[in-house]
Order: sequence, then C-alpha cells, then structure tokens
Amino acid sequence: MTVQGHEVIIAGAGPTGMMLAGELALAGVDVAIIERRLNQDVEGSRASGLHPRAIEILDQRGVADRFLAQGKKHHAVAIAGMIVDASDRSTRHNYTLGLWQEKIERGLADWISELGVTLYRGCELETFVDSGDHVETQMTGGRTLRCSYLVGCDGGRSRVRKTAGIQFPGSEPQTSYLIFEAAMADDPPLGIRYGERGLYAVGWLDDGPRVRGVATETHLERGESPNEEDLKVALAAGYGSDLGVNEVTWVSRFTDAARQAEVYRKGRILLAGDAAHIHSAVGGQGLNVGMQDAVNLGWKLAQVVRGISSEALLATCQEERHPVGAALLEQTLALTALNRGDDRTTALRGLMAKVMQMDEPRKWYTETMSGLDIRYGEEGTHRLLGRRMPDMDISTVEGPTRIFKLLHAARPVLVNFGTPSSLLLDRWGSHVRLVDARFEGVCELPVIGAVPPPLAVLIRPDGYVAWVGDGTDAGLVDALRTWCGD
Ligand SMILES: Cc1cc2nc3c(=O)[nH]c(=O)nc-3n(C[C@H](O)[C@H](O)[C@H](O)COP(=O)(O)OP(=O)(O)OC[C@H]3O[C@@H](n4cnc5c(N)ncnc54)[C@H](O)[C@@H]3O)c2cc1C
Repeated sequence: MTVQGHEVIIAGAGPTGMMLAGELALAGVDVAIIERRLNQDVEGSRASGLHPRAIEILDQRGVADRFLAQGKKHHAVAIAGMIVDASDRSTRHNYTLGLWQEKIERGLADWISELGVTLYRGCELETFVDSGDHVETQMTGGRTLRCSYLVGCDGGRSRVRKTAGIQFPGSEPQTSYLIFEAAMADDPPLGIRYGERGLYAVGWLDDGPRVRGVATETHLERGESPNEEDLKVALAAGYGSDLGVNEVTWVSRFTDAARQAEVYRKGRILLAGDAAHIHSAVGGQGLNVGMQDAVNLGWKLAQVVRGISSEALLATCQEERHPVGAALLEQTLALTALNRGDDRTTALRGLMAKVMQMDEPRKWYTETMSGLDIRYGEEGTHRLLGRRMPDMDISTVEGPTRIFKLLHAARPVLVNFGTPSSLLLDRWGSHVRLVDARFEGVCELPVIGAVPPPLAVLIRPDGYVAWVGDGTDAGLVDALRTWCGD
C-alpha cells in the first residue's frame, strides 16, 4: 500500500503556518497544511497590523506591495496610552501598516496558492506519531498522511505541542479582558481609560459607526465563550454604565497569561507562532512575531529536507527564536503592568512619558517593538553580523537594485562590494548566489546607527547577516559550511 504524504506538514493555516508554507514552497519543498477552518474568514478583527520587520520580510519575498496597497500607514506607535513618533525608524518601511488580520491572512493565502501549497481544509490534525525517521499524522475522518517533519502552527492551544509533550511554562493569568465589536446607543467614549485592574478602550471600527473596544473584567475569568451580559458587566465597571452596547457581533476573552514552549523542537516535531508563545494582545505583537518565527524556520527546514544541511541547523531555531519569544513575553508583561489605573501605576506612566520624550529611549522602543533590533548570536567583529541586512540601494552589472530584491528567491546571497570576482563560492555555488555590487551610501542599523559599510556580506535567506568580509575571504568557508550546507 502506498502511504500518501508530504515532506513537511504544517498544522494550521494562520499567519504563521501560511508564511512558513510559502517559505518552504519557494525552496522547492513539498509542503501541505492541515487546517480546521473551511476558508480564511477570521472571527472578529484580531491583529490590526504589520510592524516594520514583518513588512520587510514580505518585501524580501517581493510580495509586500499587495499588503501595502490595502492598508493605512501610521508613522507613530502607542505605548501606555501615549502616541510616540516613530517616523525615524531606520528602515524603508518606517511605518506600521494598519491592516486587519483577515486581510493579512487572505494575502498570505493567495501567495501560497500561487506557490502550489497543498491545503487540506475543513479537517483537523487529530494526532500523530513520531517514529524517529518519519511522522505519521492522522486527520479527522481517519485519513493518515506521512511526513518527514510536522510543524505545529496551530495556535495557543496547540494540539501539536500538547501531543508532543512539550512543556509550556510561564506566568499564570491575573486579569481577563473582553475585546468586542458592537454598536453603542450612547456616544462612544473614544480613547483609553484606566481602571484599578486594567485598561478600557473604545475606537471606531474602520470609520464607524460601529466600535471595537476592550474592557477589563471585574475578576479573572477563563471561559472561552463570553457573552453580551459579561461585556455589559465589564463596561459598567469601567464606565459607570454599559454604554447602551448592542448588536454585539464579536466578543472574545483574553488574559494576561504569558507562556512559552520550553523547546521549539522535539524530534521531528517543530513549533512556531502562537503554538510556541502566548501573551496578552497588548502591544500587538503575536502575529508579527509568528511570521518571523516562520521565516527563521522555513529556509533551515528546507535545507535539511533537501539534504543540503544536517539537522544541526534546526537547533539554531531554538537558539535564535526562543530568546526573541522570551523578550516578547517580558515586554508584554511590562506593558500589561502599565495599564492599571491605581496611583502608583499612573505615576509610573508619567515617568515613562518623560522618558519617551528623550530621543534615545524613544528610538530604542520604537525600533525594538518593530522587530528591527534583533541580533542572532554573539556580537561579532562587525555590527552587521547576526543582524538584519538593511535594504541598501546598490548597483550591479545588471543595473541598480536593492538588497531585498536579491532575496526574493529565498536563497542565501553573497554580496561582494570589494574587487569584482575576488570571492569564490566553490561547492556552494549551486545553492548560494554571488553578486558583485557597489554601494555608495550610509549603512545604518536600527538602534545602533551608522556602521562602516561592509566589504562583503553573506546574507541568509531570512535576511540576517551570516558573515562580513574584511577585504579577504577569512571565515567565509566556515560561514558557508554553517549556514549554507555542511
Ligand atoms: C483580540 C486579539 C487582538 C490581537 N491583536 C494583535 C495585533 O494587533 N498584532 C499582532 O501582531 N497580533 C495580534 N494578536 C495576536 C494574533 O492574532 C496571533 O498572534 C496570530 O493569529 C498567531 O498566528 P498563528 O498562525 O501562530 O496562530 P493562529 O492565528 O491561532 O492560527 C492557528 C490556525 O490553526 C488552526 N488549527 C488549530 N488547531 C488545529 C488542528 N488541530 N488541526 C488543524 N488546524 C488547526 C486554526 O484554525 C488556525 O487557523 C491579537 C490576538 C487577539 C486574540
């Protein structure tokens, strides 16, 4: 009997699963997604936009424009009720793109459909067995599919994580919140206010007249199905009345729990996105970080599946992304703490407001929350090492171009800014692209500022710098062996 299968199966066609599928498909991997939902409809509005690094990763694949065309650019960010200028973030995309999660998901769904990703819709991954040399998955209806690797992108309650027995430690919830979309008979009290236990906020949904809001509950609730009555109670506690809330089309509960998977990989099982970390929606980071998890994992898993690299490469996902997830949880807990209305927290917000008026902390915060400050590995001899390669305008023999365009094929690129033809790729030539280029501008990094322009860089498919040349090829072979095939 032939067992049907794919090289990689992903559980979940949310933003993380689709981004990962796109990355794998671009690298020539046979990838399929098992998704419970029948279509890409998203219940409620959920994520409201993309931060600069998430836009950059789409730009690195040549698909950012389709998202930019639908969204609204905001050159400021919010922190603890303040609106902070962020227009000087050091990136071509120095704005947050306001775009509802459903539109982001539809954009990704179109992209992976163009790339030929197989989608098993309307069925769940029920269980699986990792037998050491492959994974046998079982879907609802009894269908089984075999794969070399299974990736859980199946959200915060991840069945993949639970079935694999991966621990999910973290902070217990203290407060629950209701997020809702509704009409209001009274004039909506637009803006933010703080109660003893947390935040209340109301804003127009799109351009009105309906609203989207958040209300802190009077005590911690954990149930998954809040109703209109729960919402009225929470609103009354914050505003003194239920604001005449009616036509409630969506009400959902989230808490300030913060948890992270102990490991992102166990045998042939991997985790990314909400399956690997959950936290409160404050700060608006989950979708953005999930997409970046996917881009970190995609090319590495593709190289392992295609026999270019050994499994050792997958260990770097834990080394690189686990600290990013931990920092995300820390940041979210801090923002949650700032959202209370007691005297002490109000005083702390006042202090934060003063700090944010200073250029350096403001720039640090806006670039950090944009995902632009990430460095993988230890600080190297050049500040670019381990950091995202800026999208510099360069010229090549084929004419003017920019760095991100060289990454569209999701392959590593060696860019030589020194003497043309002075660098060789040897046996890596079939996988790595070599480009001789010239650059005559300032090489500027977020948070750090201007750094000496590199003489050569090896850029990984996810846009991070694996090697910086000093005019010789010292260290290049080691870097190629580590990142591009051992
Ligand atoms: C109210 C709210 C507001 C938010 N605002 C923001 C924001 O402004 N910015 C931001 O970046 N993030 C925000 N987030 C977080 C963001 O929505 C999530 O981080 C993001 O959706 C995570 O993507 P994911 O693909 O990892 O998981 P999910 O989006 O949860 O996708 C998981 C997918 O897996 C499927 N699935 C689950 N189990 C199975 C199974 N066993 N078999 C098959 N399919 C399965 C599900 O149907 C789903 O499609 C918000 C979240 C909430 C709740």
